[in-house]
Parts: sequence; structure tokens; C-alpha cells
Amino acid sequence: MRIRVETHLCTGHALCQVQGPDVYVLNDLGFNETDRLDVPEELWEQARRGALACPEEAIVVEEDGGGVS
Ligand code: SF4
Repeated sequence: MRIRVETHLCTGHALCQVQGPDVYVLNDLGFNETDRLDVPEELWEQARRGALACPEEAIVVEEDGGGVS
């Protein structure tokens, strides 16, 4: 699984990090600057929860099977 953050959509709510503290890293101003990240299997659930929590829908989850959410 991979995540991609549309950083231009991020408005710094930090909800992704609340739901996925081991996946999502924010800068000092609370914005998510991660461009792309390969997520190890043990963190897939955190990655999915964080993406769902983002009010701006700025996080795209790319499943290895080709699915995107
Ligand atoms: S929840 Fe969305 S808008 Fe908020 S910091 Fe994370 S990526 Fe940015």
C-alpha cells in the first residue's frame, strides 16, 4: 500500500495524524507535507483511518491490487 498526499489541499487539521500517528508526520505548522509513502502492512489500518479522517480528502490510498480510495 502507498499513500499520496495532495499537499496543496491540506489545511492542517491534523486529523490524519490523530488516526495514524505512526504514518502521518506533520510539519511545525501542522501541515502534512508527505508526497508519497510506502506503508508497511502493520500500519495499513492507521493509513486508511487517517485518510478517511481527512476533511479535505487530501490523502489518496493506493492499494497494491490497483484499487484507489
Ligand atoms: S487531516 Fe488532511 S488536511 Fe488535515 S493535516 Fe492531515 S492531510 Fe492535512
